[in-house]
Amino acid sequence: MKYPQAIEHLVRLFTKLPGVGRRTAERYAFDVLIRWKEAEVSEFQEVLAQVKNSITTCGQCGVFTDAAECPICLDRQRRQDLLCVVASAREVYSLENTKEYRGQYHVLQGLLSPLDGRGEEILGLAKLIRRIEENDVKEVVVALDSTLEGDATALFIKQKLEDYPVKVSRLAFGIPLGSALEYVDGGTLARAFVGRAIF
Ligand SMILES: [Zn+2]
Repeated sequence: MKYPQAIEHLVRLFTKLPGVGRRTAERYAFDVLIRWKEAEVSEFQEVLAQVKNSITTCGQCGVFTDAAECPICLDRQRRQDLLCVVASAREVYSLENTKEYRGQYHVLQGLLSPLDGRGEEILGLAKLIRRIEENDVKEVVVALDSTLEGDATALFIKQKLEDYPVKVSRLAFGIPLGSALEYVDGGTLARAFVGRAIF
């Protein structure tokens, strides 16, 4: 027997979330239907509708903020000559929580994947190079996943920066091969930062 259309629709929406398959999406949909109170559904609806509008992306580094100015770019205590490249704004939080890093960020719009239509334009290289020149950046730390896509993206960035007087280092130490940065625990990530190597 098929689900009523509204339930089916909700199930399909939940499957858009990462790691949520059909079975889990069905559990979520029925949980909303059976257990959630009206007020909770309304709250969910409101938050979902507002989240994209209430968060802005810093035009300089790509970090998310709900304030008028970016908390990272605004912080004059941070080093200006050290720049860390991450694949998404979410990873900035993981790195900040290690408390090992006090430089600037450059957030990519993902990792290179020509088959999925993600080419060089997602890297924002012109902006990265402009910041390297303007701020006299000495080192670019490439903090990308240790996967095929992460490796390919890191290598590409390194090659593009070869003509600039900047060291390019990469987190390597302690990060298991094939792992996504978001699943690496804080301690391992902190050690990886300290043990970053020029490549
Ligand atoms: Zn910023």
